[in-house]
Amino acid sequence: QILTDQIAAGEVIERPSSVVKELVENAIDANSTQIDIFIEESGLRKIQVVDNGDGIAADEVPLAFTRHATSKIYTHEDLFRIHSLGFRGEALPSIASVAKVTIETAVMNENGQYMRIKGGIVEEARPNISRKGTTITVEDLFYNTPARLKYIRSLQTELSNISDIMNRIALSHPEIAFRLVHEGNQLLRTAGNNDLRQTVAGVYGTQIARRMKGIENEDLDFKVKGFISLPDTTRASRNYLTIILNGRYIKNYALNKAIIDGYGSKLMVGRFPIAIITIEADSLLLDVNVHPSKKEVRISKEKELAALIQDAIAAVLRQEQR
Ligand code: ADP
Ligand code: MG
Repeated sequence: QILTDQIAAGEVIERPSSVVKELVENAIDANSTQIDIFIEESGLRKIQVVDNGDGIAADEVPLAFTRHATSKIYTHEDLFRIHSLGFRGEALPSIASVAKVTIETAVMNENGQYMRIKGGIVEEARPNISRKGTTITVEDLFYNTPARLKYIRSLQTELSNISDIMNRIALSHPEIAFRLVHEGNQLLRTAGNNDLRQTVAGVYGTQIARRMKGIENEDLDFKVKGFISLPDTTRASRNYLTIILNGRYIKNYALNKAIIDGYGSKLMVGRFPIAIITIEADSLLLDVNVHPSKKEVRISKEKELAALIQDAIAAVLRQEQR
């Protein structure tokens, strides 16, 4: 079983940022309004996610660490119909098989549970008094899978992966207050007050957020809203383009290109804007493609959507030039 979990871990848990993503998505699923993430050594030494969500009932904690025990998605369309981000019941068992994990969790008005697992083996489990919510601490990631450790790139790269993922998650959940702290340095802090511009400020800083321009466009199929930087505020990578479709961030080449095309010749070659584009679409127009965790989605009428985005950006920039 542990071996199976380790093999599954190879697919789900490729690097520290995958652990962060899975743990944070679980916290979101649990209706948390505040999620704090503490990292050491780019996540290899320690990843701790503290949430104030629903918690796990004491007797269900072992189940949460059992493979597929919690799988709850039946067709891939469900992914966009239901709110829940979890669907495979694989993340926790996978993580626990390649690290040292402790969990402290409690549901409202009940005694909580503490459990410590090392390399997939439960080493300690006992009742625990704690506040409602869940704290999961993952230490010494890949300590027992040296082959996996070899794939880890520089600590700097791993940290920026974590940062990128957290930026995008925070931007797609302006209703949740996030904090990301790496060895005492706060990398991100959002207010969770459902204000997208303030969320952008928490992610990219107040200066940048203040100078960004709002965009808006819609037709019968799509509603587009967001914030874009002016052509004088650019970055050398596409990591600052965030597309959020029905509340989930997605990767989509054509829509990234639509953003860039909206700037036309105003962007220097090799430079990219900062942009957060939120899209509302009927889920009938969407099809989750390949592996859902890869954030790839097939969108019917994608060209129409791309044009909406490009036009909205071009219009705002034209306005700005006057
Ligand atoms: P999945 O999210 O695909 O169901 P996971 O392995 O990520 O599988 O999590 C297993 C289960 O543990 C979840 O379905 C959920 O019931 C529970 N769980 C995990 N993390 C949390 C959390 N932070 N708060 C409440 N429940 C959680
Ligand atoms: Mg999950």
